[in-house]
Amino acid sequence: MQVKADITQQNSQPLRVVIAGGSMSGLCAGLALHCIGCDVEIFERASYQGVTPTFGSVQSHGAAVVVQMEINQFLAEHGISIPEAVGMTSCKRQYITGDGSIIWEESTPQVMISWDMLYHQLRKVFPDERYHQGNSVIGFQLSDDCVVVHFEDEREEKCDLLIGADGVDSTIRQQLILNAMPQYAGYIAWRGLIDENVLSSDVAKFFADKFTFFNGPSMQTLCYLVPGPNGELDEGKRRLNWLWYFNVSDGEELNAVMTNHQGRVRRFFMPQGEVREEVVQQMRVVAKRYLPEIFQYFFELTDKPFIQPIYDLSVPRMVFGRVCLIGDAAFVVRPHTAAGISKAVTNAIELAQGLQESGGDVVAALEQWEPIQLAMGNYLKVLGVTLGNRSRLGHPFGEFKIHGC
Ligand SMILES: Cc1cc2nc3c(=O)[nH]c(=O)nc-3n(C[C@H](O)[C@H](O)[C@H](O)COP(=O)(O)OP(=O)(O)OC[C@H]3O[C@@H](n4cnc5c(N)ncnc54)[C@H](O)[C@@H]3O)c2cc1C
Repeated sequence: MQVKADITQQNSQPLRVVIAGGSMSGLCAGLALHCIGCDVEIFERASYQGVTPTFGSVQSHGAAVVVQMEINQFLAEHGISIPEAVGMTSCKRQYITGDGSIIWEESTPQVMISWDMLYHQLRKVFPDERYHQGNSVIGFQLSDDCVVVHFEDEREEKCDLLIGADGVDSTIRQQLILNAMPQYAGYIAWRGLIDENVLSSDVAKFFADKFTFFNGPSMQTLCYLVPGPNGELDEGKRRLNWLWYFNVSDGEELNAVMTNHQGRVRRFFMPQGEVREEVVQQMRVVAKRYLPEIFQYFFELTDKPFIQPIYDLSVPRMVFGRVCLIGDAAFVVRPHTAAGISKAVTNAIELAQGLQESGGDVVAALEQWEPIQLAMGNYLKVLGVTLGNRSRLGHPFGEFKIHGC
């Protein structure tokens, strides 16, 4: 790992940093600050028992991440394998009509890596002894010269800086800002993964190396290939990842969709295997009426689709003395931007730079850091809403309602 500089050179004691949340933003901040000599520890609520971590507070399920420039740079700086070696290249976007013919193509080269792969690469370079799973932060006390962090098991940790990287349902944010809650955007993403070898060779070829979109009435479907479950990139061993953005009104209808087979209402994610069969059956009817045959087929083929409701979140402030919010704890932007992780990376990199420039003066560094991060978060939020509106997502259409069953 490349160590850029050591802010302990300016301070007698290394800065003690506690990070709540060990997913993308927590790990990126942890690495960036560890590399400048901070005494960092990450506390993650989930006990991963081996592998699959979270994706937007949920299991990743093989989701792919578009490797934006910021991610690329960050990985390179930390000596992590070049994404091309572990990622999949998509050369263009193609848009299809209801009968499956291509109406528009554009060249948009991009590399995608699997979420799991990115997480494992980051975890590999962050010291194990500083990453604590199964540790839930429940609150903190802030004073002028330190923060005392409280854990569920009644332990406490004292630090110079507390970073809330605890995602959309952030405990740290809820202690700081009472009225900044995620707002449901009026639509959900149905999602699924299909093994490439299940597809006929014609179908697999049609979708290989591209993003394919279909825009229907107030709905959008898209699909692309992602690496296999263990990062496989060989033809036939990859998976097709599809998404179907579909309007579901808030309240009764959303509750019906998000009530799992055990009667529990999920809020931010409905995992594979928990969606009720009645709900899947209703969606099959809608798919038959509105989607091109190929997407109907994907829905049929997917054994266990899962659901991610789309939320917007923005905060008026990210800094509160010696406490700051990063990643989805501060801004949740719509997935159309494909920028959630690059935003988290930017928050982390610029925080480390600010701390270096201030010689380890936490309060001064955070004051400098905040305005640019707020501007970026607000910009991406607006961009996501604009992209969603352009496809009339979240805007009522037609007579379809998913019933309570
Ligand atoms: C459908 C969909 C598709 C997306 N596609 C992309 C994409 O292609 N590219 C992209 O860049 N982004 C994408 N995103 C966004 C991306 O998933 C998020 O921006 C990113 O996961 C945010 O990371 P995070 O670490 O801030 O939050 P999270 O991933 O939510 O992690 C928060 C972590 O904090 C932990 N935690 C929570 N509370 C506590 C606590 N009290 N104490 C300790 N730990 C706690 C959680 O267990 C979790 O591990 C997508 C999002 C959606 C919904």
